[in-house]
Amino acid sequence: MSRVVANLIQVKERIELSALAAQREPEDIELLVVSKTFPASVVEEAMHAGQSAFGENYVQEGVDKIVQLAKLRPWLVWHFIGPLQSNKTKEVAEHFDWVQSIDRLKIAERLSIQRGEFLGLPPLQVCVQVNVSEENSKSGVTLIEAESLCDAISNLPNVVLRGLMAIPAPNSDSTMQRNAFALVRKCFASIQDKHYSDPGFQFFDTLSMGMSDDLEAAIAEGSTMVRIGTAIFGKRDKINK
Ligand SMILES: *Cc1c(COP(=O)(O)O)cnc(C)c1O
Repeated sequence: MSRVVANLIQVKERIELSALAAQREPEDIELLVVSKTFPASVVEEAMHAGQSAFGENYVQEGVDKIVQLAKLRPWLVWHFIGPLQSNKTKEVAEHFDWVQSIDRLKIAERLSIQRGEFLGLPPLQVCVQVNVSEENSKSGVTLIEAESLCDAISNLPNVVLRGLMAIPAPNSDSTMQRNAFALVRKCFASIQDKHYSDPGFQFFDTLSMGMSDDLEAAIAEGSTMVRIGTAIFGKRDKINK
C-alpha cells in the first residue's frame, strides 16, 4: 500500500473516532483532500483509493490539475478554498464545483454571472468564509457580517449557498481550538435557525472547518467537512505555504 493510501486510511480513522467521541455519525463528516502544491498524479492515486473531493488554493495550479485530469472529471469534485481575486473568478466559475472562500458579495456576483455563461454546468456550490481569529485578518468576514453576506448570496441565480468555512489561527491547545470552532458553529446554527424556511437556504448544510492539526476539535464542534492536506500528502514546500 502506498504512503498516500495508508495516510488516507489513517485520516478516515481519526474522523471516525472523533465522530464517535462526539456521538455523531462518521458519515456526516466529509473528507476534502487538499492537494495544493502536489501533482495530479497523487490526486489520481487518492481517487483510485476511493476519494472524490479535492481542494485547491491557487487558481492557476488548480485549473492546470483539473485539465490534466479531465478524463477523470466525472468522478472528481473540485473545491476552490483559497483567496480569490475578481480577475480570476471566470476561471474558477468555469472549472470548479465548489468555492468555499467567498468573503465579499462582488466575488459571488461575478461567479454567478460567469457560471451562467457556461451552459450545462450545474450551479456552483459556495460557502462564506468567516474569520474567527481577528489578528489573522487576511480573508473572511466577521461573524457579525456573515449572515448578511449569506442572505445576499442566497438570492443569486447560478450559485447555491451551502454554508460557512473557517480557518482559525493555528493553536496547539485543544481547548482553544474548540473555542474558535464553537464560535463558528454558533454562527452557523443561528443563520440556519433564522432562515430555515427561506428557499435560498434550503441547502445550507455545510460547516467546513478542521485541518490536519485540529480536525478532532472541529468535529467535536460540529464540523461537517474537514480539509486535510499535510496528514495525507506530507509537508508542503515552505515557498508554497
Ligand atoms: C492548505 C489548506 C488546508 C489543509 O491544511 P493542512 O494543515 O495541510 O491539512 C485546509 N484548508 C485550507 C483553506 C488550506 O489553505
